[in-house]
Amino acid sequence: MKRVLVVEDEVKIARLVRDYLRQAGFDVLEAADGPGALSMARAERPDMIVLDLGLPGLDGFDVTRQLRATSSVPIIILTARSEESDRIVGLELGADDYITKPFSPKELVARIRAVLRRADATLGGGEVVRAGPLTIDIPKMRATVDGTEVELTSTEFDILLTMARQPGRIYTRAQLLDAVHGVSFESYERSVDAHIKNIRRKIEPDPRHPALVLTVYGVGYKFADA
Ligand code: CA
Repeated sequence: MKRVLVVEDEVKIARLVRDYLRQAGFDVLEAADGPGALSMARAERPDMIVLDLGLPGLDGFDVTRQLRATSSVPIIILTARSEESDRIVGLELGADDYITKPFSPKELVARIRAVLRRADATLGGGEVVRAGPLTIDIPKMRATVDGTEVELTSTEFDILLTMARQPGRIYTRAQLLDAVHGVSFESYERSVDAHIKNIRRKIEPDPRHPALVLTVYGVGYKFADA
């Protein structure tokens, strides 16, 4: 049974999420503030953390930052619908996904399952990455779509590989630049759009209506989750 740590200070929401996750077959741990979340995460080693951003003690950003210093446990952050910048900051600190309040418990369960599936797939990752029709042979730096080789620059290769390793995971432009250069500068972030355009031209059956490399409006990009 997968164990999910739910970190939420609003009692009503915490109770709703807990009951729904238990019904869905998860073992649920709970914390109501930042320090409690950190000690629970360290002591109990959950498989996944659902983390509200607005918390007493330490906020969700601080918790994510501190967890990521030592752990790759999957994290889904809960954000207010209006706070686009929170979503981006959360993803850049290393959260795996976000869900906006108010949310349906059903959607939350679906997201948790998707993130857990991706985390399991990453653990088993070898030197060949497969995502939908795309196959990437990492040592050979070779990419094929439905068996046909596509020529990519090394930057395009790295960006595509980063996304294809975890289909469905959303990457901000800064994260994609990080994957390429190990560092990102805000002024270069728009250059990612140009690389994405080139990648689409090379791998998409219809680049104007992308089916593989998808835009997440206001946030960044993701590889389609089959
Ligand atoms: Ca809160």
